[in-house]
Amino acid sequence: MILSKKMQTIGVSPTLVLNARAQEMRAQGKDVISFAVGEPHYGTPQVIVDAAIRALQQGRTRYGVAGGGSKLRALIAEKLRGDNGLVYAPEAIVVGIGAKEILFHTLLAMLNPGDEVIVPAPYWVSYSDQIIAAGGVPVVVPGTFRCVPAAFDAYVTPKTVALIINSPNNPTGYVLTPEELDALSAFARRHPQLWLILDEIYEYLAFDRPHESLLQRAPDLMERAIIVNGFSKGFAMTGWRVGYAAGPTSIISIIRNLQSHSSTCIPTFIEDAACVALEYGRKLLESDIRALGEQRLVAYELGQCLHPLKPEGAFYLWCDVRAFAASGVQFAEMLLEEHNVIVVPGEAFGCAGFVRCSFALSRDHLEKGMARIRKAIG
Ligand code: PMP
Ligand code: GLU
Repeated sequence: MILSKKMQTIGVSPTLVLNARAQEMRAQGKDVISFAVGEPHYGTPQVIVDAAIRALQQGRTRYGVAGGGSKLRALIAEKLRGDNGLVYAPEAIVVGIGAKEILFHTLLAMLNPGDEVIVPAPYWVSYSDQIIAAGGVPVVVPGTFRCVPAAFDAYVTPKTVALIINSPNNPTGYVLTPEELDALSAFARRHPQLWLILDEIYEYLAFDRPHESLLQRAPDLMERAIIVNGFSKGFAMTGWRVGYAAGPTSIISIIRNLQSHSSTCIPTFIEDAACVALEYGRKLLESDIRALGEQRLVAYELGQCLHPLKPEGAFYLWCDVRAFAASGVQFAEMLLEEHNVIVVPGEAFGCAGFVRCSFALSRDHLEKGMARIRKAIG
């Protein structure tokens, strides 16, 4: 039977496969330590959980509004103003099933067949497959391990439609500096036909200096930028699946229309819980995030044998394993088969010879896992 040629090139998300593998091994009674998890190890705050339970008990079990109800969108507008100094009307905001769905619908809304999207590597695993699924072509800028906008010009062609930037960054942990933000704005101004997709999902997890949105420094770019954010990382709500975008209403309304024909809306009781998360705001997880920032320094020390970059944000150590294996995949397989340790190969992020280790683990697991890695490489 015929299948879509394009869709057959899309692989399953490697991070999700490895998460599943860790759960499977644990269910088999294996003492596995997983550095693959892309989620906080602490739970969702109880006030958010209680809000969802209350909403369910009050009958919030029916369809909601495609693209998010007005209360949630108004609270997101408020958040963007308070945290980021950006003024968006609630109509310029759309809510979806995680930042992942929002990003996919953004690409579907933007791309015509063969359009190119610039993706600096290493990049988050889903960007390239989402671009392909949306009919576009990912144009990967090879690993510079920071955002180097001067290097992007050479990749712009008449078919380039967008650039994706993620800061704080998964997997390298960089957080854009004011100088890098200005260089990025200058790049965008040199190419006025490009959309900017700004993935700010790790916004609250910036440890050395606060995250600053590009648009705070360059409001002139607002009319061709989409900010993507969500509740997964900042509010420890990965399994709840709530994300959002803010941008020009021309594209936001297409994203909302697409959702109305696909997932319809986020579940209504989850919408209520997301409102409560925003009403409390970032202070709700302040102490967990401070502890995560401290754990980052411990992980950086314990992982020195893997030559990691020093993470400034998010919760990943990006490690260079070229001295120990022919590829990141080979290194990860060796750790899994021989030491019951799971890491994500850099190849999944478009960079061979590296691995990503999440440090959002219990301290005990972090220490035990790193000790196993040290033993593995002798
Ligand atoms: N962007 C980046 C960089 C991520 O790491 C993630 C995590 N999965 C997402 C987007 C999507 O997040 P979610 O769908 O959980 O909101
Ligand atoms: N963003 C996380 C990661 O990179 C979650 C997994 C996923 O959505 O692919 O591991």
